[in-house]
This record gives sequence, C-alpha cells and structure tokens, in this order.
Amino acid sequence: MKKVFLKPNKQESIQRNHPWIFSGAIAKADEGIEEGDLVEVFDASGQKIATGHYQIGSIAVRILDFGAKPMAENLLYERICNAFNLRENLNLIREDNNCYRLVHGEGDFLPGLVVDIYGDTAVIQAHSAGMHFERYKIAEALVNIPHAGIRNVYYKSDTTLPYKANLDPRNDYLIGNFNGGEAVENGLVFNIDWLKGQKTGFFIDQRENRMLLEKYAKQKNVLNMFCYTGGFSVYAMRGGALRVDSVDSSAKATAITEANIKINFPGDDRHSTFTEDAFKFLDNVLLGQYDLIILDPPAFAKHRGTIKNGLIGYRKLNYKAFQKIKKGGTIFSFSCSQAITKDMFRMAVFTAAIQAGRKVRILHQLTQPADHPVDIAHPEGEYLKGLVLYVE
Ligand code: SAH
Repeated sequence: MKKVFLKPNKQESIQRNHPWIFSGAIAKADEGIEEGDLVEVFDASGQKIATGHYQIGSIAVRILDFGAKPMAENLLYERICNAFNLRENLNLIREDNNCYRLVHGEGDFLPGLVVDIYGDTAVIQAHSAGMHFERYKIAEALVNIPHAGIRNVYYKSDTTLPYKANLDPRNDYLIGNFNGGEAVENGLVFNIDWLKGQKTGFFIDQRENRMLLEKYAKQKNVLNMFCYTGGFSVYAMRGGALRVDSVDSSAKATAITEANIKINFPGDDRHSTFTEDAFKFLDNVLLGQYDLIILDPPAFAKHRGTIKNGLIGYRKLNYKAFQKIKKGGTIFSFSCSQAITKDMFRMAVFTAAIQAGRKVRILHQLTQPADHPVDIAHPEGEYLKGLVLYVE
C-alpha cells in the first residue's frame, strides 16, 4: 500500500477523528501514488495514524479507518451493514416506507459514498475516485445485507465525481436492472426517476419536514415553490389543503409532480402546476393569495466562494414570499447550501422580513433527518436548514 507522510503537527485533526486530510498537511507521498488509491497515513514522527482514499485536490485523503492497525478486509461491508441496522432501528423500513438514505458519507463513516434506497433498488453516488474504484465491491455488499431485500444496484456518479479525475464514469446497473421506479414514503407513492432525475432521483432529506408541513396544510391555500417531484405538494394534499399550486422552472419536474399527484389523488382537482421561474411567479402572486408557502430552492451557494451571492438569493426569495403571504400565514423556508451556516441563513431571512415590513416569528427550526446523520467530528456534514415562520 502506498504511503502518505504528514507535516509536523498536522495529525491533530485526525486525533479528533476528523475524516479529511487537506493537501496542505502533506509533507510527501510515495512515488507513483494515484488518485483513488487506498493509502496509509503517517505522522511526522513516522507513526501510522490512518488508512484512507487518496485524491488529487484540496481534500487529499478521505479516512476510512483511524489508528495503526491494518484496515479490515471487510470494512466496507461491515460499515454498510451498520448503516442498515441504524435505519432499521430508526424504523424507516416499513410496508408504508421503503425509501431512505442508507449511507450518508462521513455521517456513516464512509466518506465519499452516498446510497439511497428505493424499494429493492439501491442508487449509489461516489464523490471520490476511491469509492468509484470500489463500486463493484459496494454493490456486492449492498445485495448481501441480511434482510435488506436489495436486488438492483444502479451506479450514478457522472455528476458527483471530481471531473478532473477523468474517470469516465458510466451510469449503469452494476447488479440487476430497472424495476419500475416506484417508492413509498410514509404511505405516499412516488415515481422516482433515478436514471434521469436530479441527484439519486428524490430528495429523501425533506421527509420529516414534509410530514410537518402536512400538519399545517388543512384548509390552506398552499404554494410549493421549487417543487421538483412534488413531495411537499403530495403531503399538503393529504393534509387537507384547499388548493395546492406547484412551481418549478423545469418542465420535467412539473411533469413528475403531476404524475405523483395523480398516483396518490386520482381525479382530485385541488392541484395545479406552473412551469415558471420562481422569482417571476412570486411577482405575479396577489397579496394574501396563499396562506402557506414552501421555499425549497437548489443550493444558492455551492461552495465558499459563492456565499455572498447565495445569501443575496435567499434574502430576495424570502423577501418576495414575505411580501405576498397572507396575514397570519406560514412559510417553510429552506437552504441546502452546506457553505451557508444556520446563523447566516437566519440573518438573510431576518433581513428579508424587515425589508418586507412583516412581523415574523420562528415556529420550528428544521434540519436533515436521522438517515442523514452528522458525525460530531465532521460538522461539515450538516447542510440542510429550515425555518417555519409565522407571519403577521
Ligand atoms: N422541494 C423539492 C426539491 C427541490 S430541488 C423536494 O422536496 O423534492 C430544486 C428544484 O428547483 C429543481 O427541481 C429545479 O428545477 C428548480 N429550480 C431551480 N431554479 C429555479 C427557478 N429559478 N425557479 C423555479 N424553479 C427552479
């Protein structure tokens, strides 16, 4: 196994179990070391301190195993089984709920790997070259988890792998094949297009926030902005909304939303879709037209360099919603930008409220669900933020 040697005192974050080694911490690496290699990491005194995947870029090593001992042969399988046991203990695997995130990267001690489950299909996303090279081993491990019932494994990493790595990933079934693409979440059926959809096809991370929204929807006029698969809309319908309008700039997204409304509420005419830009749509909304608005935009700040513009985006969006929401209405406002902290987001929303001249109270502070765990040693794993706001 190739070796990587750290500069003096650069082992400290590893002693605190942080799973990343930045390129600036590395004094030297063995000759011939290649992207995706499993490497041993040594501190400046020559003591072995970790084993992980090597990558060219700012995060140079993603640690799989801490300490001096050799990494266990079956580490991937063991970690994946542990991840499954956690989801079972969370009671996420039920007759009326067969979609969940099985592996959430660092949060499941598997940096660089995401696995979402839709019924008997697992969709894998590799974020590192190391996980890309392990993909067949991961697929084997997934179908061998006792009682998990995973039969198909689809690999979808064309957008998540570092493009400079030139790995030429091909989206394909590593095991099994297409099974129809339906999944059940809390008793609601969703058509999930992992072949062409965004990410793995569905935003499982909003499951609990959708459940909360359902409780707020009774007798309400609901506006679901950035609807994608219509997750929030379907829950609002079940919650007894008077009307639900779903908006997305992508025609594919509004078509998926319509299909998902039809499967769950055939013949129900309370729902409409609009293929439009969210900002323009809000400009044309009448004051008081909606009592409940969901704002769940794509990440406005994809990395640190775009935080400032991202915050301007969140402020403007929330400002427009505050301008139009009915007196006594509620806004569910989210940010999934990892680079933007809870406090920054809250400040942007606060500024928007002041600018719109509305009195606003925070009813709930939301985050990602338990199948997207955050390793306490790796706070970077926390990304989803939400505020439920009561607007006078
Ligand atoms: N709320 C969704 C996830 C939203 S993903 C859920 O619960 O699953 C973000 C969505 O925003 C995408 O579907 C994308 O097409 C849409 N989008 C991006 N920019 C937009 C814009 N300016 N106006 C409207 N929709 C937009």
